[in-house]
Amino acid sequence: MNFFNWLSLFIVFHVFAATPRIFSLTDSSTQLPVNFLDAAKKPEVFDYMVRIRRKIHENPELGYEEFETSKLIRAELDQLGIPYKHPVAITGIIGFIGTGRSPFVAIRADMDALPMQEMVEWEHKSKVPGKMHGCGHDAHVAMLLGAAKILKHHEKEIQGTVVLVFQPAEEGGGGAKRIVEAGTLENVSAIFGLHVSPNFPLGEVGSRSGPMLAGNGFFEAIIRGKGGHAAIPQQSIDPILATSNVIISLQNLVSREADPLDSQVVTVGKFQGGSAFNIIPDSVTIGGTFRAFSKESFQQLRHRIEQVVIAQAAVQRCNATVNFLQEQNPFFPVTINDGDLHEHFRSVAGSLLGVNKVNNMQPLMGAEDFSFYQEVIPGYFFMVGMQNASHEKLEQVHSPYFKVNEDVLPYGAALHASLAVSYLLKHPQDIAPAEGKYHDEL
Ligand SMILES: [Zn+2]
Ligand SMILES: [Zn+2]
Repeated sequence: MNFFNWLSLFIVFHVFAATPRIFSLTDSSTQLPVNFLDAAKKPEVFDYMVRIRRKIHENPELGYEEFETSKLIRAELDQLGIPYKHPVAITGIIGFIGTGRSPFVAIRADMDALPMQEMVEWEHKSKVPGKMHGCGHDAHVAMLLGAAKILKHHEKEIQGTVVLVFQPAEEGGGGAKRIVEAGTLENVSAIFGLHVSPNFPLGEVGSRSGPMLAGNGFFEAIIRGKGGHAAIPQQSIDPILATSNVIISLQNLVSREADPLDSQVVTVGKFQGGSAFNIIPDSVTIGGTFRAFSKESFQQLRHRIEQVVIAQAAVQRCNATVNFLQEQNPFFPVTINDGDLHEHFRSVAGSLLGVNKVNNMQPLMGAEDFSFYQEVIPGYFFMVGMQNASHEKLEQVHSPYFKVNEDVLPYGAALHASLAVSYLLKHPQDIAPAEGKYHDEL
């Protein structure tokens, strides 16, 4: 062995010897995530998360109105001694744990509720009529705080900085877009996000490499005719009939114009018009969503929706306007998981849960504003299962009967913490040489 080989062996030895045992990449690399799952299941972390989740569940707030939720999170971060930036994107909070220097890795939770009435009768039911945490974002906040508590405990061993992203307005408002626009992710190398899921058993996760969730847009159209007596239709211009034809024509876009192998959706979910049995109304308003897995298909749908609504309304002598509502509801890009982060996820989740608990998912036509992060840095989004075979079957997200199985909380917290610290360990090269202690040791 020549001098340089000896030198490199010496350096490698010192790098690993200087790394605290819990974060060692050598013999105990599989210990690290397992340790975090055990830590997350301990009463001081589990009960902490349950308490936070229930408190947020009782007081749901819609997108960009998460003022109390934001206050609660900041109070918890203060308690934990975690510094943060606020306000970011109105109610958002960005916390920091670790050295305060690169590499930076982010873990994200969304905070907003839905405009729907909770139908589940339980002790911690929503106290706000017409608002409900029906997508589990209350659990997401609790999990990220649980991860923060665990990570803070190990702060001295973290090889870089974990960035906590508490974002507003995921449900259509594009809170992630505003977080990105605030420059929050400028030095961040990667970001992880999760969603609770009733579609996987408790203790299992699901995800995939590449496109996972669709790009999403909303539209609203007003079709105007001329109102009058229902018994004298010849003196009116009937927008109900025109709109009915508009909707049928919109359905032809996917069935006749899209490649059958290129998944797309156009759904009209709102139809408002008329007030009586015997009156032809002046106008009808419809609204809906369109989804696709490529930018080209998405733009083509957008273009054709506008064209079809206006032209088909004109066939029945109506005028139509189409609004894509991008101010309130920016188009969500396709959620595309980074290939290298997929491998990282499989290895971390595999050692934390067992390799057979890490499921490969089919893409879904659902959408996530996590995709805004993935447009600027590598990102990875995954589902955390909470279905418990021995209990009742859980309803899907956005159902008024949706319930969170709180036993899922430790899994989310542990995955967040383990994915982040092990990512930092695997990417020490991101540390600037002047800051790196490895350099100093030479
Ligand atoms: Zn949702
Ligand atoms: Zn959600």
